[in-house]
Amino acid sequence: MIVVGGGPGGYTAALYAARAGMDTVVLEKLSAGGQMALTEQIDNYPGFEDGIDGFSLGEKMKRGTERFGVETKLTEVLSLELSGSVKKAVTSEGAMYAKSIVLATGAGPRELGVDGEQALIGKGVHYCAACDGMFYRNKTVVIAGGGNTAAADALILSRICKKVIVVHRRDTLKATKIYHEPLMKTENVEFLWDSKIIALFHNEKLTGIQIRNVKTGEESTLACDGVFVSVGRKPSTELMKDQIEIDPAGYIIADESTRTNIPGVFAVGDVRTKALRQVVTAVADGATAVHYAEEYLAGEM
Ligand SMILES: Cc1cc2nc3c(=O)[nH]c(=O)nc-3n(C[C@H](O)[C@H](O)[C@H](O)COP(=O)(O)OP(=O)(O)OC[C@H]3O[C@@H](n4cnc5c(N)ncnc54)[C@H](O)[C@@H]3O)c2cc1C
Repeated sequence: MIVVGGGPGGYTAALYAARAGMDTVVLEKLSAGGQMALTEQIDNYPGFEDGIDGFSLGEKMKRGTERFGVETKLTEVLSLELSGSVKKAVTSEGAMYAKSIVLATGAGPRELGVDGEQALIGKGVHYCAACDGMFYRNKTVVIAGGGNTAAADALILSRICKKVIVVHRRDTLKATKIYHEPLMKTENVEFLWDSKIIALFHNEKLTGIQIRNVKTGEESTLACDGVFVSVGRKPSTELMKDQIEIDPAGYIIADESTRTNIPGVFAVGDVRTKALRQVVTAVADGATAVHYAEEYLAGEM
């Protein structure tokens, strides 16, 4: 079995597949843990009474699969051939073949969609506060967004930066209530409600932003050193979108069975159509995928 993606969904599929006697490889382009590795603290995955940081949980999941002989190859999957009884994954280190394949490529950050954003990535525009926040010690930063990730990012950055300004297009946070009180009490966090970023000012690096009030249409400018974009996630389905059924939002269409429209191809975790995208649901998908993969392989033989 080939598992594409070493997040919680992929590693659970690998664990179950190896324990079911399949030769299993995980192909991961960055590091174990996927999106989990971006968060300082996971409190809603059972078994860790004090919570656990996402990077350590990812490493534990990887090591747990190694006990049963799973190999992780740190390589990017560049293309896939999913139809037919032998599936092919072309990686930066050559081609690999398998009788079944689990797609666990998860999701990545959604962009602001403002001119110049691409050129400023890493030079003032960032998508991960836990990863890049330390570059902004005692500086002024803006967070675009108002959901859970934006709220968690604001708290992380408030401990590093001089000032954190949350720019949100609604008049209240969308984040769960647990974030509201600590954020409102944090002195160096300010809010610009009903607002969105419409332009980025820069020379070599970001120098400020232009904001539009979505209710009044009024525009204003704001000097800042960095912008952290937390406006949602988008599924990583570029690789397979022309071969597999995808919904209008870009997610692989698969129900709780994780089966896709292609026999022997399973989609687990954040990359598939589902109601709740969390570690615990990705992990559940990984186990289910192998249940149906075994059924598929038994039928194939
Ligand atoms: C900042 C943040 C905080 C979060 N906090 C929590 C929390 O507290 N609790 C919780 O339950 N959930 C949390 N989540 C959500 C949780 O991390 C995800 O639901 C979960 O990681 C999804 O797992 P996954 O295995 O589907 O995919 P991902 O974790 O997205 O992993 C996908 C992996 O696939 C790899 N990949 C993609 N394309 C390729 C390719 N072409 N070749 C090789 N590898 C590839 C990626 O590098 C990545 O490692 C958080 C998410 C974020 C971003």
